[in-house]
Amino acid sequence: MGDSTAMQCEAITRGGTRCQLAARPGSRWCWWHDPANAADRAAARHRGGKARHGRDLAGGEAYELREVADVVALLGVAVGDLLTLENSVSRARAIASLATVAVRALEVSELEARLSALEARLGGDDGKGV
Ligand SMILES: [Zn+2]
Repeated sequence: MGDSTAMQCEAITRGGTRCQLAARPGSRWCWWHDPANAADRAAARHRGGKARHGRDLAGGEAYELREVADVVALLGVAVGDLLTLENSVSRARAIASLATVAVRALEVSELEARLSALEARLGGDDGKGV
């Protein structure tokens, strides 16, 4: 027996098909479906935000997109969902388009961070500047 062969996740997706992802080592499920990761998944979904009113936010909830981090987290969840679907041209297109949006969001986020750093330098220091 070779234990290096990755097992396929046993979960059944919303579409009724078997999850196409590899199970995690020592688990019967992939990261997205492993019950042990429910807390991690919730955290990933709401990184930068907080679970509203302590409710358990499962799929189908409306997301509050207030920060780039919220958008990126949402995109990550969306891509994860797509990856559980059977491979197809439209799935590939959807993933590519989400990835493109994520890259733009991250670029904006980085620019904001750099701008903040610049502003802090200009306004925050001794003020004498150049
Ligand atoms: Zn899975």
